[in-house]
Amino acid sequence: HNYTREDILKMVEEEDVGFIRLQFTDIYGTIKNMAVTVSQLEKALDNRCVFDGSSVEGFAELGESDMYLYPDLNTFEIFPWRPQQGKVARMICDVHYPDGRPFELDPRYILKKVVKEAEEMGYTLKASPECEFFLFHTDEDGIPTTITHEQGSSFDVGPLDLGENARRDMVLTLEDMGFNVETSHHELAPAQHEIDFHYDDALSTADNIVTFRMVVKTIAKRHGLHATFMPKPKIETAGSGMHMNLSLWKDGKNIFRDDTDKNGMSQEGYQFMGGILEHIKAITCITNPTVNSYKRFVPGYEAPVYITWSGKSRSPLIRIPAMRGEHTRLELRSPDPSANPYLALAVLLAAGLDGIKNSIKPIGSIDLNAQKMTDEQRASLHIDMLPQSLPEAINELEQDSFIKDVLGRELSTKMIDSHKKAYHEYCMQVTDWEIANYLHKI
Ligand code: GLU
Ligand code: MG
Ligand code: MG
Repeated sequence: HNYTREDILKMVEEEDVGFIRLQFTDIYGTIKNMAVTVSQLEKALDNRCVFDGSSVEGFAELGESDMYLYPDLNTFEIFPWRPQQGKVARMICDVHYPDGRPFELDPRYILKKVVKEAEEMGYTLKASPECEFFLFHTDEDGIPTTITHEQGSSFDVGPLDLGENARRDMVLTLEDMGFNVETSHHELAPAQHEIDFHYDDALSTADNIVTFRMVVKTIAKRHGLHATFMPKPKIETAGSGMHMNLSLWKDGKNIFRDDTDKNGMSQEGYQFMGGILEHIKAITCITNPTVNSYKRFVPGYEAPVYITWSGKSRSPLIRIPAMRGEHTRLELRSPDPSANPYLALAVLLAAGLDGIKNSIKPIGSIDLNAQKMTDEQRASLHIDMLPQSLPEAINELEQDSFIKDVLGRELSTKMIDSHKKAYHEYCMQVTDWEIANYLHKI
């Protein structure tokens, strides 16, 4: 979209919009919003709507009690599932201080900074996610469970696939909201699904991911189901990833493309990959930000474990999918859907650009499945591992001043502190595993 103020006023009038939600996200990528009625629309468009920044988790301390929302007009969208009279529309906003300065903890601001840097080099990142999620039942009180009666697996259809109707409804709703949905399918685990939409520039894709999560959860609820983007809701089944497809464009052309190369990949493509691989351990703290994220990085469930890349095999951390020509791209397979997409794309783009600036060669090329090797074989090939736990990833981020600079001092400090606190809380739990293993033995 390329909407003007007049376009917004006209659409609101013609579509009988009654409420406008001014959305933003906190540092964890959770959508927040302030709803205003149409009578306040002019005020909102003048960037004069305020919210209490000191009561948003993660924003507090730095966030003052009057923070201003600057709506991005191009993100105007009507929620198709709300009443058709007095409709509900939303605009995604940037967060500013009362004096007009952008708020350093606004994830959208951090991504915009890196996008601008890329633009100065003449580049536009195109990104598309592969979002996986589970659809579970709720109990009689409506509380989400991890229960499903479904037995479906990869690409199954109904009646095995019990989520078929919900998934179709999700796709149609997404299309109503301007998404270009490419495919949707049943994933490997029972009750696990995936919906993929077309690539877009980094900011639009990050906006799309947060919108996508909201739509999927909303529509699931209408079908009496609970949608979860938790990376590993159940042991001994696949977890949910958010593989990220990345390509860099210049003057309307995909500059990752080189038809003479054996992987169809240009030097810039390899260097971009080199930059990501160089910083991947610190990046993991952003792309996999929960305690639960690390339960997914285990062998046997199509999730990456080792830091490798390949133009052939399906199991590495980064693969070059078979699509060539203008579709040439990298697929990073570590991110999971608990990530804040603004921050994830910011660190990936910055690391990739750093790879190009410094002509970094990608390490870890291997066409074999590193998960099937012995420790000795991996050691002899110098194959390294992704962080195996949240504290390991935090430690890597603490040591990577480049990635910390991309996030800014305020946000990286906040993020590190809050992750440490979450891990500390987790460590104090007495788990079912401990009870099962120790209670009667000791
Ligand atoms: N669910 C797998 C993961 O955790 C990915 C499956 C696939 O390749 O689509 O990353
Ligand atoms: Mg998948
Ligand atoms: Mg994939």
